[in-house]
Amino acid sequence: MKVHEYQAKQLLAAHGVPVPRGRVAATAEEAREVAQELGGRVVVKAQIHAGGRGKGGGVKLANSADEAYQVAKQIIGMTLVTHQTGPEGRLVRRVLVEEQMEVERELYLAVLIDTSAGRPLIMASAAGGMEIEEVAARDPSAIARVLVDPATGYQPYMGRHLAFALGLSGDHHRAATSLVAALYRAFAASDASLAEINPLVVTRDGRVLALDAKLNIDDNALFRRKEIAEMRDVNEEDPLEVRAQSLGINNYIKLSGNIGCVVNGAGLAMATMDAIKLAGGDPANFLDIGTVNNVDRVVNALRIINEDASVKAILVNIFGGMARVDVIADGVVQAIREGSVRVPIVTRLAGTNLAEGERILAEAAVGDRLVRAADLGEAARKSVEAAAGKAVVR
Ligand code: GDP
Ligand code: MN
Repeated sequence: MKVHEYQAKQLLAAHGVPVPRGRVAATAEEAREVAQELGGRVVVKAQIHAGGRGKGGGVKLANSADEAYQVAKQIIGMTLVTHQTGPEGRLVRRVLVEEQMEVERELYLAVLIDTSAGRPLIMASAAGGMEIEEVAARDPSAIARVLVDPATGYQPYMGRHLAFALGLSGDHHRAATSLVAALYRAFAASDASLAEINPLVVTRDGRVLALDAKLNIDDNALFRRKEIAEMRDVNEEDPLEVRAQSLGINNYIKLSGNIGCVVNGAGLAMATMDAIKLAGGDPANFLDIGTVNNVDRVVNALRIINEDASVKAILVNIFGGMARVDVIADGVVQAIREGSVRVPIVTRLAGTNLAEGERILAEAAVGDRLVRAADLGEAARKSVEAAAGKAVVR
């Protein structure tokens, strides 16, 4: 789950990361009030779950409360397009109004999970304010890295090392060292997968603080982080994913392709997407329907996939272990009968109760909507053909 910048800053600040003073505002009038409280010279920042706001016109300086009102009026309600939002952009509903900082240096600092090392990684770079991916591509040596062993946890030398790598000394070095430790505490205590400060700034008056903040939380930990779970903003999430979750389908992730996938098991779902890619196609979603023998769940999954306008074919790939093929077949038949499926369905079915599943599909006489496949390779090829509108051998 992602949270807004203002929420990320609240969480970071609670663990001791210095951030500029400020408050979120939902109207231009409110933005003016906050600016007044802060003495007039402020920065007004669009709150959306995407970066690149500065370049897209979503971050503006204002030198008086009235100017803050004007700027907030422009930003609230605008559809902000950045390189992370896609061309459709995001509607801005709130702005963060913060005291303006006199920036001397822009740095980069982040904690994330390094999945290949299986450990938290702290990264720092003196090239702040720009995309870290760009820095990594151009000059990987410009990024200092420290892996944290979860058994021994964060050690003070790590912060000292990184602060030196940022080219800091004296009071700046001390401030940055304690900031790295505070960021790591916030990362661990939030069950975050990413805590990123870009830019981390050194101000003209000698302070080191987080000018921006991005925090992604591991969804699997939200049950024990209730106060963070409450920060969820469904306006920022994909409407189909939100609907899927409301129907108890927690492992649906919308993707950009046109072949819908209904699969049991996360590993099999990944393999199914790989097979579709290998056959020249593009999956429309990831979906692990899970091991519950529940016809409604199958029907709901097909309804959600059918609502995705880009879907041109659906691949149902089931290996029945504890999940039963006959339950899946029941769900497929029910979804077709109620009119929830407008595209061809390619099925690859195997495992528990296969014969019963075959009988249900045969007796339901929905054969004209189904394309059968004996194995995954064939299923992937046929779904790619079906999505391309080609007649497929049934
Ligand atoms: P992003 O573009 O979505 O990553 O938003 P940021 O919060 O990083 O803001 C973009 C840029 O605006 C920063 O890199 C800074 O250069 C600039 N900026 C933001 N706040 C201030 C401020 O208080 N003072 C100054 N001088 N620049 C700021
Ligand atoms: Mn930024």
